[in-house]
Amino acid sequence: MKAALFYGGRDIRVEEIPTPAPGPGEVLVDVGAAGVCGSDLHPYRGANPWGGASTPAAHRGGHELAGVVAALGSGVTGLRVGQRVGVEPMHLVGCGRCRQCRRGDYHVCPTRGMRNGERHGSAGFSEFDVAVAANIFPLPDDVSFEVASMLDVYACGVHGANRIPLKMDDVVCVIGTGPIGMTMGQVARAAGVRKVIMIGRRDELLRLAVDIGAADVTINNASARVSEAIADLTEGEGCDAVFESVGGTADTLAQAVDASAYGGKIGVIGAFWGDVAVAYRTANRKEIDLRWCNSYASWNGVREYQIALDMVVEGRVQAEPLVTHRFPLTRISEAFQAADDKKGSGAIKVVVQP
Ligand SMILES: [Zn+2]
Ligand SMILES: [Zn+2]
Repeated sequence: MKAALFYGGRDIRVEEIPTPAPGPGEVLVDVGAAGVCGSDLHPYRGANPWGGASTPAAHRGGHELAGVVAALGSGVTGLRVGQRVGVEPMHLVGCGRCRQCRRGDYHVCPTRGMRNGERHGSAGFSEFDVAVAANIFPLPDDVSFEVASMLDVYACGVHGANRIPLKMDDVVCVIGTGPIGMTMGQVARAAGVRKVIMIGRRDELLRLAVDIGAADVTINNASARVSEAIADLTEGEGCDAVFESVGGTADTLAQAVDASAYGGKIGVIGAFWGDVAVAYRTANRKEIDLRWCNSYASWNGVREYQIALDMVVEGRVQAEPLVTHRFPLTRISEAFQAADDKKGSGAIKVVVQP
C-alpha cells in the first residue's frame, strides 16, 4: 500500500510499504479521509511539545481518520467488512487495567498509547490503517468521511465542555479560531450556554465563526483591547468559562486569565511548545479553576467520540464548513503546506484522502 512517511520537519514522502494485518481485536480500515491536525504540524514546524524521544525517521501520522472496514482480526464481533466507520485513534488506547482506565478515564492512563510494549499511533495518512475494534464507531450513510475525520476534533470539544463542566447560564469565551476553537464554540453553543464570545486575529474567521454557530459575538484582539471588550460584553463580570485553543508560543493563557470572571474556569486545550507561566496574583484573586484538557475518553460511561458523532448526526454542530481543503495522498506535502500557512491558503481543516 501507499503511505506517507515523515522523515522529520517538512520532509514527507509517499512510499510503498506492506499493508498491515489486523491482530486479535483489531480491524483493518481502508482510509477514506484523514485530517491534518495541529499536533501533526508541531513536528512539521520543528517542535515537539510533548517531549520524549526524538522523532524517529519515517514516522507516520494521521490520527483524525475515517474509512471502510477492510478486514477483521480474530475475535472481533459486531462489525463487518464494508462498513463505513469513524476511528478513535490508537494513541488514546489505554492499558485497560489501571485505576484511570477502570473508571473510564483512559486518556490519562499512565501508559496510554502503549501496545505490546511499543508506542502506537494511528497512521491515517496511508491507504490502510489498523485500529482497535473497541475504538471503531459505525457511521450513518449521510456522514461523509471528511466530516467523520473531524469527530476526533469535536470529541476534544465535548471533553472540554465536560471538564469545565458548562452550565446553561455560562458566558463562555473561546480563544482561537482554528479547528479546535471553532468546534469548541459550536459544542458550547449546542450545550445551551448563554453566550459564546470568540477571540481571534482574523476578521474573516471571526465572521465565519458567527455564520457557522461557533460564536455569538467576536473580538479581534489585533484591533481591540481584550479585557475592555470582554468587560463591555459581560457587564464587567468576565466569562464563566474560558477555553484556550491556541497553544504554541502564544500569550493566550494570560488572555484567558484576564477574560475569566471571578470564580471562573479556564480549560486549556491548546498544546504549548514549552512550560507556561500563569499570572498568579490575578488567577489567585479570581480563584480561577485552571483545567487542562487532554484529548478525550468517556464521560459518565458514554464515549465522548460517540457524543460528538451524535451531535454531528443530529445537526447540532456544523462540521462541513470547517473542511476547506482536500488533497489525495500523493499530494500530502501540499496538504501540509496549506495547513501550515492557513492565512495564505485560507484553510481551516485540511483533509487527506488516501
Ligand atoms: Zn488531532
Ligand atoms: Zn491504563
